Amino acid sequence: MISWAEVAIPRISATHAFSPLRLKSTATNTLVELPVDRDIRMYVCGITPYDSTHLGHAATYIAFDLVNRYIRSSGQKMHFVENITDIDDPLLVRAKRDIVSWQSLATSQIELFRGDMTDLHVIPPQNFIGAVESIPLVVDAVAVMKERGAVYELEDDLYFRVNSDEKFGTRSRLTKENMIGIARERGGDPDRSGKEDPLDALLWMQQRPDEPGWPSPYGTGRPGWHIECCAIALHYLHNSKEDPYCIDIQGGGNDLQFPHHEIGASQARILGGKDFARIYMHAGMIGLDGEKMSKSKGNLVLVSTLVSQGTDPMAIRLALLTGHYSHDRMWDSQLLSDAQTLLVRLRSCLSREEVATTSSVVATIIALLANDLDTPGVIEKLKQWCEETEAGAIGGSAGELSRALDALLGIAF
Ligand code: ZN
Repeated sequence: MISWAEVAIPRISATHAFSPLRLKSTATNTLVELPVDRDIRMYVCGITPYDSTHLGHAATYIAFDLVNRYIRSSGQKMHFVENITDIDDPLLVRAKRDIVSWQSLATSQIELFRGDMTDLHVIPPQNFIGAVESIPLVVDAVAVMKERGAVYELEDDLYFRVNSDEKFGTRSRLTKENMIGIARERGGDPDRSGKEDPLDALLWMQQRPDEPGWPSPYGTGRPGWHIECCAIALHYLHNSKEDPYCIDIQGGGNDLQFPHHEIGASQARILGGKDFARIYMHAGMIGLDGEKMSKSKGNLVLVSTLVSQGTDPMAIRLALLTGHYSHDRMWDSQLLSDAQTLLVRLRSCLSREEVATTSSVVATIIALLANDLDTPGVIEKLKQWCEETEAGAIGGSAGELSRALDALLGIAF
């Protein structure tokens, strides 16, 4: 699938040293250091194209964009892959409700998503892969899993035996009861009778009446969600044989920790013969005015709505960087207005002929980002630099700081 427009990343002076990037892996709740001597491979779960792009999506993709920016600015290569689930139950349900075809709903929402990502200066993935185009990969993956005894049939549908992976459950660390409850809430089918284990996941679903289907050796149907991401990630990103992990980073919103990333990791262990991701990185949810932002509450704030009302996308980006990516946090008009004020202040300071010293500020920003993307610390540092510049301090280079903010934070002036 076509990605969105490439984003230029200014070079940061070679005098700045980058320490290894450490990110919190939710599988262990510890900081894990990324390798520095080779390319980094990151897979981020994309949207199902309806209701795109709300601020929760924006916050998630900006968090992974910071990882991408840090790695690339440090001189390493990043191979970044993102999917888009352009066929799944929620898309079909929404298309039916709105009396439109699922294809036209998906196409229009993917186009909107591309525009929002461009506005927000998110670097596009090298491979942006739709669920429909991933079907041949899923078919091949299921064949391998069948050979390895991880698949069974139930009324013509195919299921993955979660217990074929001895490490199933170790990344989300939930009790079985909790897993079943969450699976029920998040599109799973733990109550379907005939399953060997309530948590076994659908790999291939036979075509249902009035639903689309694609031919396969397992009958006409469509892939399950978890196997879609797993098959794409392994196809495009598989690390070398010597590496103990299939990929470096598995990312998404924290509502994907279970079941999506747990089951995907188990499937990948069966297929790849080793642990899936070095780091499971999850972004927090964004609420609105003290409430959870959700489709059912009808209180989603869309990036495209804010931009069409005249909001500078860089202010949206700055506002979302005010909080730590991993925390659930609130969006309100004050947060946006504070970010707009800071953006104006930064622009004004960066346009001065004389500015406070910048080299140490850039070094501090790099060090803060290296520590699990401490953007609240970065914002404080920037405010302090503005204060010093406004007080008449000199000795810095506005260009140096401006380039660093563009390269590392994606804030372009
Ligand atoms: Zn996914």
